[in-house]
Parts: sequence; C-alpha cells; structure tokens
Amino acid sequence: MPRDYYEVLGVSKSASDDEIKKAFRSQAKKYHPDLHPGDKEAEAKFKEVNEAYSILSDPDKKAKYDRFGHAGVDPNGFGGGGGGYGGGYGGGAYDVDLGDIFNSFFGGGFGGSSRRRTGPQKGADLKYHMALDFMEAAFGVTKTFQITKEDICKSCNGSGAQPGTTPETCPTCRGAGRVQQQTQTLFGMTMVTKACPTCSGRGTVIKTPCTQCRGKGRLKTMKNLTVKIPAGVDTGDLLPVRNEGEPGTNGGPYGDLYIEFKVKSHEVFDRNGYNTSCSVPITFAQAALGGEIEVPTIYGKEKYTLKEGTQPGDTITLRSKGIPNKSNPNMKGDHVVKFVLEVPTGLSREQKQLLNQFNETLTERNYAKRSQFFQKLKNIFK
Ligand SMILES: [Zn+2]
Ligand SMILES: [Zn+2]
Repeated sequence: MPRDYYEVLGVSKSASDDEIKKAFRSQAKKYHPDLHPGDKEAEAKFKEVNEAYSILSDPDKKAKYDRFGHAGVDPNGFGGGGGGYGGGYGGGAYDVDLGDIFNSFFGGGFGGSSRRRTGPQKGADLKYHMALDFMEAAFGVTKTFQITKEDICKSCNGSGAQPGTTPETCPTCRGAGRVQQQTQTLFGMTMVTKACPTCSGRGTVIKTPCTQCRGKGRLKTMKNLTVKIPAGVDTGDLLPVRNEGEPGTNGGPYGDLYIEFKVKSHEVFDRNGYNTSCSVPITFAQAALGGEIEVPTIYGKEKYTLKEGTQPGDTITLRSKGIPNKSNPNMKGDHVVKFVLEVPTGLSREQKQLLNQFNETLTERNYAKRSQFFQKLKNIFK
C-alpha cells in the first residue's frame, strides 16, 4: 500500500499550498539521489516524495485524493510511476526549481543551476514532536521547550573565519565558485562547469577558521522557545513557528519550525475530533427511580436529571460541552455521557432478603424487554 501523501510530505491535511511546497522542497532535499549515490532507500523515498507532491500540488488531483484516497488518483498520472525526475531534474512538471534545491547544498556549483549561486535560500524547516495533556490540548497552553538546531555561529557571525580575520578569495576559482573541467563522456570530451573543489563553491577560503565552529560558520545550538498553543489542537496537528528552522544561505531567511502534537489520553474523557465522551456508572436504584445526578464535562460537573427507567448504555448529548474549535474557539464540539449500570456486589443476607422481597413484587409489566423476549422464544419453540 502506498503511504498517505500527506504523511510522506509530513504535513497535515489542512496544509496550505505553500506549506505543501515547502515540505516537498525540504523532503526532496533530504532524499535527493545525488546526495545519496547508490542508496536505493533514499531513491525510493525521493520517488515517493515526488509522487506525493505531484498529487498534492495539483488542485484537481488533490481534491480527488482527499475524497477517494489513492484509489482516486491514477498511479500513472504523474509521469510514469515516479519517473518525473529520471530525465533531468529541472524538467519535472512540478512548479518547483530543483536547481534551487541543489543550490542550498552545493553553493550553486552544480550543473546548470549556477545562475542562482548567490541567490538567497531559505533555511531548512524543522519538526518538533510535542506531547500534550488532554486538557492542555483542549484549552490551549503556553509551552516553553528546548530545541537543538544548526544555527549561525555567534562567534564568527557565520563567516567561519576566526574573529579578527576575514575569508579570502579562493585562489583556485578566483572567487567564482566554479571551475571548468574537461571530462570524457560517451559523446567525447566536454567542458563541464563544476563546483570549485578548493572552496566547495563558496568562492572564498578561510585561512584561520573560527575555533568555535571550526570554520563551518554554523553550530549545533540549543534554543529555548515559548509558544502559545491554541485550544483544540489534536494528535497529528502541525503548528508552524515562523523563522525558527535552520538559517538560510546567502542571506536567505530562516526556515520554519513545525510542532507536531501528540495528545495523551485522559482517565475519564475520550475525544473524537472536537467531541468528548465519558461513561458514568449509576446504581440500580438511580436507573430505576431517576433523579438528580452530576455528570462530568471538561468544563466541570453539570447537574443532570436522570429519567426514571434509564437503561444501561443509554446516552445523553450535552451540546457545545466538547472541545473548542481551534480556528474558532466559540464553536465547540458536543459531550456525550454514557450511563453504565453497576450491579451491587457483596450483599449481606439481610440485603438479599430485602431484594428478594422486592423482586417478588415485580411483574412482566415492569420488564418490557424481558416479556417481549420470552414471547419471541415461545413463538420459536411452539
Ligand atoms: Zn564560527
Ligand atoms: Zn574556489
């Protein structure tokens, strides 16, 4: 079975076109075959990512997929089973320049994409998994947490050069970042442009590397973030935190951080979307006689008048006593209470006698279901 396309790209079903595009770019970067030569798994992942994007970036196909799942989209509809990248990376039908993706990795020295060498590139998006208590998810919460990410080295401000020194122009490529090289191909000798091997395409070399980041300009950095989480989030929801991803290259903006939630279960309440439910045990006498009881909701206890003759498994629905809608907190789900009959155990002899006395007073009139049931049996076996 093919994996869910949203899952492949790591976005929620409600992700915007932009979010889908961003997620695709970050996934495509991660699994690009040129970064994993000979790695069959990465290649398969890359195909999967391309396939998911070809569907989710096409409004028509996306709508079909949303309605019917994989059955709704022709598996060959995206250019022959994931072949979209086989014949030249820039030539896919997708609205994304794969040259961009290369740029952020190879500093533009790659193939024909060098025209963008100095263009600013947005940094990678990151994902953070966060567990929330049931009530935190229901009502929203402000959370402070720590992330570890690649960030610009504060010591050298990202230049990679020891403070007080500056990067120098690369002597091999004289700052161009690219070198021309003669290469033997199937079609004879060709001049190809490659990333400069001395400076890896940066155009500069560092004589005295920064001691903090060893010349990389970036460092694994821990950062505390405080984020306000809206009421109503559920397991699998993604909350974007803008500009808290990894730093961009060539002056590009930071990527974004996406918080993915997992909501813990609750000892009393269950949740289904914005609706909540719980079971309330009642006694035999309460069920038979009815009367005022208290039922729990996520907002506290509510008084409820149990009707006479309540049956085990009967439910009531309390409108708008469920979880606030995350896009409109004034809209709330419903709360369903299910009554569970608890039969008393450990009766004393006296209690048993009383119950027997009481039982002898009952007639078929008091047991609608039971008398119907035995009537049916009689009809079957007569
Ligand atoms: Zn540094
Ligand atoms: Zn160079």
